[in-house]
Amino acid sequence: MEAYCVKCKKKQQMKDPKETTLKNGRKAMKGKCPKCGTTMCRIMGGGAKKKSGAAKKKKK
Ligand SMILES: [Zn+2]
Repeated sequence: MEAYCVKCKKKQQMKDPKETTLKNGRKAMKGKCPKCGTTMCRIMGGGAKKKSGAAKKKKK
């Protein structure tokens, strides 16, 4: 599992990734950076999509 490390300022392989659920109901993976030990968090996609298909088609 790759995630962006804010300390290293680049992607690192997340160490001990664990699934967690955020307050807004989204799922995320939490782990640690193998280089600096900073807690990394990666929000998983596939949540509720509200933007797609919002445009209404008008027939003339
Ligand atoms: Zn790091």
